[in-house]
Amino acid sequence: MTTHLPVCAACLLATLLVAPLAAQQAPAPTSPKPSPKDTEVWEPAPVVVTPGASSDAAPSDAIVLFGGTHLDEWVNVKGGGPAGWRVADGVFTVDKPVGNIQTKRSFTNYQLHLEWRVPATITGKDQGRGNSGLFLASTGGGDAGYELQILDSYNNRTYANGQAGSLYKQAIPLANAMRKPGEWNVYDVIWTAPTFNSDGSVRTRARVTVLHNGVLIQNNYELTGETRYIGAPTYKAHGATPIKLQAHGDPSEPLSFRNIWLRELK
Ligand code: MG
Repeated sequence: MTTHLPVCAACLLATLLVAPLAAQQAPAPTSPKPSPKDTEVWEPAPVVVTPGASSDAAPSDAIVLFGGTHLDEWVNVKGGGPAGWRVADGVFTVDKPVGNIQTKRSFTNYQLHLEWRVPATITGKDQGRGNSGLFLASTGGGDAGYELQILDSYNNRTYANGQAGSLYKQAIPLANAMRKPGEWNVYDVIWTAPTFNSDGSVRTRARVTVLHNGVLIQNNYELTGETRYIGAPTYKAHGATPIKLQAHGDPSEPLSFRNIWLRELK
């Protein structure tokens, strides 16, 4: 017995010494060395779009809604016949008695470029001075839809949620970026249409971003519904819709438009 004890003690000592050594020598779990390539994504490659000669010009994948010579992409809202607004010198001008016009095609989500001009001879004040409107989705006749206001807001005070760049009676623009009468204004709009459940209830609200002459005036604003002249905005279910321009009934001189193009978005 006495001879075994030292042996066992030696064994124990050896075990104590060797075990940590063995643990150190066990193969470490394999984890590949991190590489910059780990976070590279190559597919899908973005579609190639050839930009216009300037940022105002239509890119290669745009639908040109007005290129300077005709209104073939537009119809009159009343009856669906020819738009009936006058085209001259590369621009077209609102004809108030003829009424609103809208695109023949219907759209859902899009990027839109539109240029508009208040005549240098404009008269009137408040809402009665160069009033028109861009309905981002025309959901019916008349002024049904979501109106981005067009108005002469150059030194012309009106209610803030009704001035140029407002979502009429819903969202005040973040800035007043108006150019003076006689000069061209530019709207660049990114519109995300609302979606609806099968029972007609809202699944996701509409959202819109607007630049006015390059100045951000609506920043991913989430609409609470369609424009209402009286009362709060409300939604009603719809699918793809035309885009509409307003012939407002005020007596001031009519506005003109040019260079309108749109890129459909997924
Ligand atoms: Mg209007």
